Amino acid sequence: MARMVNENWCENDVQTTALNEPGRGTARWGPQHAGAKELANLYSPGKRCQEWISVVLCFSLMAFNFFHLFANFHLGHFWYILLCVVAGMLTADFASGLVHWAADSWGSVELPIFGKAFIRPFREHHIDPTAITRHDFIETNGDNCMLTLIPLAYMAFTVLTHSAAELYHSYLWNCYVMALAVFVTLTNQIHKWSHTYFGLPGLVVFLQNCHVILPRKHHRIHHVAPHEMYFCITTGWLNYPLEKLGFWCKLEDLIQSLTGEKPRSDDLKWAHKTK
Ligand SMILES: [Zn+2]
Ligand SMILES: [Zn+2]
Repeated sequence: MARMVNENWCENDVQTTALNEPGRGTARWGPQHAGAKELANLYSPGKRCQEWISVVLCFSLMAFNFFHLFANFHLGHFWYILLCVVAGMLTADFASGLVHWAADSWGSVELPIFGKAFIRPFREHHIDPTAITRHDFIETNGDNCMLTLIPLAYMAFTVLTHSAAELYHSYLWNCYVMALAVFVTLTNQIHKWSHTYFGLPGLVVFLQNCHVILPRKHHRIHHVAPHEMYFCITTGWLNYPLEKLGFWCKLEDLIQSLTGEKPRSDDLKWAHKTK
């Protein structure tokens, strides 16, 4: 694949917005931002190891399950299978929004183990949006591969232990689970593509232009500070309806009224870092 070169629209958009905000002072977004440098240095060998194990296990299980589905495919089920795939994509899009919203809005990098391992990349992404385009396959996809391990392992277990009749009855459900797992696994790769402006394979650009996966222009909306909307990053199909419903605002108001915590306070803290 051609070397990927990236445009800095995201940085510029965010920077312009951020600099117009009171109190942001001379914050410079991108790899030179003090907070971005500190967050990049928190990526540890232990974290790298967890990502490698997750990627190897996830893709092995996916190949095994896919072989089972392919071997039992019947053309007569095509439209049902397509429906299951679309349902899996919708569920993955909602899940991506929920996880992204939760990690952006709540918690802190200072939380023991979890903060450094799983919240850090979200903080880094807002102050250095192009960092993701410099991450390799393992760093980009490791955490998402970990998320799908349990459902994929359970499906492989049923393939090995259930009777042919039982597997026939659960075939469409397994198609749904497989589509969900594939799109959850690919979410951060799709997100990375939405930040990449040169050297993308033609098929990826075609899928973005048809809005089958997250389009680049669509994802810009999330990157306008203070990053409080358009959290879904798999297909982005649910962003508009969820904003219309005020879904994230209502959820944040509810949590704030119950806990007294303000959303995105940790995110703002990192954005304001000057040294
Ligand atoms: Zn975000
Ligand atoms: Zn992004």
